[in-house]
Amino acid sequence: MRSAGQLIVDRLLHAAEIARFHSHVVCGPTPSDCNIWTGAIGADGYGRFYLTRDGVGFCVRPHRYALAIAAGSVAAGVLGLHECDNPVCVKVAAATDVQQHVVSGSQGDNMERMARMRRGGGRHAVRRFDSRGVRRERSVALRDAVRHGWDAAAVQAALLGDQPTLW
Ligand SMILES: [Zn+2]
Repeated sequence: MRSAGQLIVDRLLHAAEIARFHSHVVCGPTPSDCNIWTGAIGADGYGRFYLTRDGVGFCVRPHRYALAIAAGSVAAGVLGLHECDNPVCVKVAAATDVQQHVVSGSQGDNMERMARMRRGGGRHAVRRFDSRGVRRERSVALRDAVRHGWDAAAVQAALLGDQPTLW
């Protein structure tokens, strides 16, 4: 994955690619809701978006791609970080919005943010999502929850890891 390289997304040049990106996203109805990636999800619980440019196939993280759509490009070494603590969220909120979602930052910012959330600043209990397996389970549950459009109750249940048992 070229996640740490420079990523350029040009609204005209990459219009078809951007349209394909949006076809994999289900948007929540309110500013506090996430926009959820419904494409491929990797073993780490983060999305995968496959691109082919100049005949070369590669894969990027969808939330970082969303930042590149918003800004035109994301510099090498700049990561997409989730203020909403939802690895499959691809919403880039306006800077003035109270609830932020995907923001850009460095690896150092990411470490600081994770430490802050462990101290209790997160919207969800981060501790439970530390393991890749658990994180992936939650991401897949979220994807399933919006498969046929935004289902607020199903999304909330998936975020809480509170899926009803199917007998
Ligand atoms: Zn979000």
